[in-house]
Amino acid sequence: MKGSEARKLFIDYFKKHNHRNVRSSSLVPSDDPTLLFTNAGMVQFKRTFIGEEKRDYTTAVTSQKCVRAGGKHNDLENVGYTARHHTFFEMLGNFSFGDYFKEQAITFAWDLLTNGYKLPVDKLWVSIYLDDDEAFEIWNKKIGVPEDRIVRLGEADNFWAMGDTGPCGPCTEIHIDRGERFGCDNPNCAVGCDCDRYLEIWNLVFMQYERDEEGTLTPLPNPCIDTGMGLERITSIMQNADTNYDTDLFTPIIGKVEELSGKKMTDCNDTAIAMKVISDHSRAATFLISDGVMPANEGRGYVLRRIMRRAIRYGRFIGLTEPFLHTTSRVVMEMMADAYPELKESEAFITSVIKNEEESFSVTLDNGLRLLEEALEDVKASEAKVLSGDVIFKLYDTYGFPVDIIRDVITDDTITLDLEGFDKAMEAQREKSRSSVAFTRSGEAFRKLSAAGVKTEFTGYAGLTGESKIL
Ligand code: ATP
Ligand code: MG
Ligand code: MG
Ligand code: MG
Repeated sequence: MKGSEARKLFIDYFKKHNHRNVRSSSLVPSDDPTLLFTNAGMVQFKRTFIGEEKRDYTTAVTSQKCVRAGGKHNDLENVGYTARHHTFFEMLGNFSFGDYFKEQAITFAWDLLTNGYKLPVDKLWVSIYLDDDEAFEIWNKKIGVPEDRIVRLGEADNFWAMGDTGPCGPCTEIHIDRGERFGCDNPNCAVGCDCDRYLEIWNLVFMQYERDEEGTLTPLPNPCIDTGMGLERITSIMQNADTNYDTDLFTPIIGKVEELSGKKMTDCNDTAIAMKVISDHSRAATFLISDGVMPANEGRGYVLRRIMRRAIRYGRFIGLTEPFLHTTSRVVMEMMADAYPELKESEAFITSVIKNEEESFSVTLDNGLRLLEEALEDVKASEAKVLSGDVIFKLYDTYGFPVDIIRDVITDDTITLDLEGFDKAMEAQREKSRSSVAFTRSGEAFRKLSAAGVKTEFTGYAGLTGESKIL
């Protein structure tokens, strides 16, 4: 089954069960300045869930573009290392706004997974929230999942809340045991473990309480359902692929990277990591730019810049010295334009934005890497094994290295980064820029210089704005 077919199967199933097929919303949330990017299917329905916005349907199905990089949900540094995490991914979801609830939601999910996708029943595991006996009864008595394959997990995994107050409720998640070879060294490896063995496929959220300032939970009059399943994960299972990157949602992009670099994904683990990062980040950059995010030194644009620079750095590692990301991005557009037609409209624009960023970053990348290598030699020889805040700041300020590039380059985990020192250097830089702005504003110095025929050039605010919040 192709990735596109896995997507269609999901949408068609819920359409058949009277769900309205709603288009994915933008990666930039339209009315939520607190949220960096749309990171789940429910984001476009937030106001509907709390009853502030009425829609002419009470059930919906979507395939939602999501980004989990920067902000509260940040999977950026997992990318390349786990089989299942991306920065950009598609979340398939069905929603009920006060229509059906727990039993129906569980029944739909189980029916679709076992009869639609035909997953082997004896490999499926279920997690529920600690005290959610209602969910236990449904899974065990109605669906027939044996008790020993139902696991009770705590708040971090299986309780969801919109914020500190407001709608919240327990979740239930469906996992598939992918076998021992995906496992880890932990003797207690089980559902909820961080490794890729018990792969979490689908999360069903039961929005059934309202939490007030004291933390008291009051049942909602019209409980709601919000679910999310990663398309890339279900596709990897359907294609019996080792990782999401071995599915047809990624292989054409990786094929292009192989062609450009003359290397193979199977050459060695480090090459595989680089190719995974590049293919993932090509998708993220393409979709973010298509939704109007531009590379910048703060906020959303800075996260995009980090993603692109990280990809370029990994490209350098496998010998890609010429700009390549705009080429892999074109592959993404070709593959995804059927499902997301908006990509067609901005094809040339996306290519040029990426190419520009590549060209400007390439100039400093090699010098920066050299400086970092030299600094690391000294650090390794030293007792404390700390990379100083000043070096991190110089790499950041002069060479445009986001901190995560530095982290990626340092494979020796006895070395630590002095991030406090980095913040201090950043603050000192801000102070300096503030006083120089005050100086310029006084006009005196400027008038003198300009009278003397000196032209000033605006070089932007590179490195001066509030990025440290999202580093
Ligand atoms: P995990 O525990 O594997 O990090 P999660 O519990 O953070 O996943 P949810 O927030 O429950 O994920 O999101 C719903 C579904 O979206 C997950 O069950 C999974 O299928 C998918 N998903 C979540 N994060 C990612 C990601 N970074 N890349 C790809 N798919 C993801
Ligand atoms: Mg997660
Ligand atoms: Mg989880
Ligand atoms: Mg989850």
